[in-house]
Amino acid sequence: MNKSIIHVDMDAFYASIEQRNNPNLMGKPVIIGGISDRGVVCTASYEAREYGVHSAMSIKAAKRLCPNGIYLPVRMEEYKKESRKILKIFNKYSDIVEPLSIDEAFLDVTGKKAVNIAKHIKKDIGDELKLTASIGISINKFLAKIASDINKPNGLTIIKKEEVIEFLKPLSVTKLWGVGPKTKRELNKLGIYYIGDIQAYDLDLLISMFGKRGKELYDFSYGLDSRPVENRVLNRSIGEEGTFQRDVKDINKLIERLEHYSINTSRKLVSKGYLIKTITVKIKYSDFSMETRSMTLSIPTNDHNVIFETSKRVLMTKFNLHKSVRLIGLILINLIYPKDPKQLSMKI
Ligand SMILES: [Mg+2]
Repeated sequence: MNKSIIHVDMDAFYASIEQRNNPNLMGKPVIIGGISDRGVVCTASYEAREYGVHSAMSIKAAKRLCPNGIYLPVRMEEYKKESRKILKIFNKYSDIVEPLSIDEAFLDVTGKKAVNIAKHIKKDIGDELKLTASIGISINKFLAKIASDINKPNGLTIIKKEEVIEFLKPLSVTKLWGVGPKTKRELNKLGIYYIGDIQAYDLDLLISMFGKRGKELYDFSYGLDSRPVENRVLNRSIGEEGTFQRDVKDINKLIERLEHYSINTSRKLVSKGYLIKTITVKIKYSDFSMETRSMTLSIPTNDHNVIFETSKRVLMTKFNLHKSVRLIGLILINLIYPKDPKQLSMKI
C-alpha cells in the first residue's frame, strides 16, 4: 500500500504569534530576531518579506531593506508553549508524528483520509491558536515537504503518485533534500539547474562525481524516498560522562568506560520507552581541547550491546587518540518514541 504522509509547516510562526498577541502589529512588517544590529532574523512576517527580508539575514541588512519594520526579540518560551499545543493537535490525528523543528512536523496517516485530516488540522490550529499552517500531502516525506512549501501561507497541496515526476521537473535543484548553495553551484557547473535536469542526467555519471550523494539526488529527483516517519523527541538526549582521576592513554580504559555508560544509558532508554538512532562519543583531552564524533544507526535501538559496540567503533575509527584523555562521555541523540508497535518490534 502507498504511504500517506502529511507535512505541516506553520506560517511565519514567531511573527504570527506576536501579531496574534498584539493586534497593533497585524498587517505590519514584523521581524523577530532582536533589536541589536548584531542579531539575525529568525522569522519575518509576510509583510516584511515583501521588503525582501528573510530569515537568516542579519538584522542590520534587514533594517536597510525595511527601516520602518517592527523589530522584536525572540521569546522562545512563548513559542515553545504554542508548539506543544500544535503537537497535541497532531497527536489527535496520528500515532506517528515526527517533529522536525518547533513549527513543523511529519505525520504518517497511511490508510486514513489524508485530505480530511489536513483540513481538520488547519481548522484546529485556526480555532485553538488563531494561527495558520501550510500542509503538504504525498506518498513520502520528501514530497510532502515540497508540497507544503508550494502554496504558502495557509496552503494545502497534494502531490499524487502519478504526478510526481512532472511536478518535480520544473523545480529548482535547491528543493532537493540537502542541496545547499555549495552543491547547487557544483550542479550548475554541470548545466543542472532544475530537478528535471537531474532526471535526465546519467546516473553513473552522477555517482562518479558525487558518490553516494549522486544516487540520492537521482532518487529524490524521481520523488523516491523510503525514510519512515518516526516519533522523534525534539531536542532531548540521554548521556553520561566522567573525568578520570588521572589522564588516560590506555584505550582499554576508555572502552571500559563506554561499556559502563552503555549499560546505564540503555537502562534509562528502556525505563522511558525510548529508542535512539545516533550515538555520540565525546572526548576532552589533557589540554582541555574537545572532540565529538557520531554514528547513526539505520535501525533505532535501546540495546546496550548495540550502543556499546557502536560507541566503541566510533572511538576506534573516528578519533585520532594522540593525546591523553581527561574526560570521556557517551551521548545518545535522535530519540524516538515508538508508539507504533511495528517500530517496537524492531528492537535488536
Ligand atoms: Mg514554518
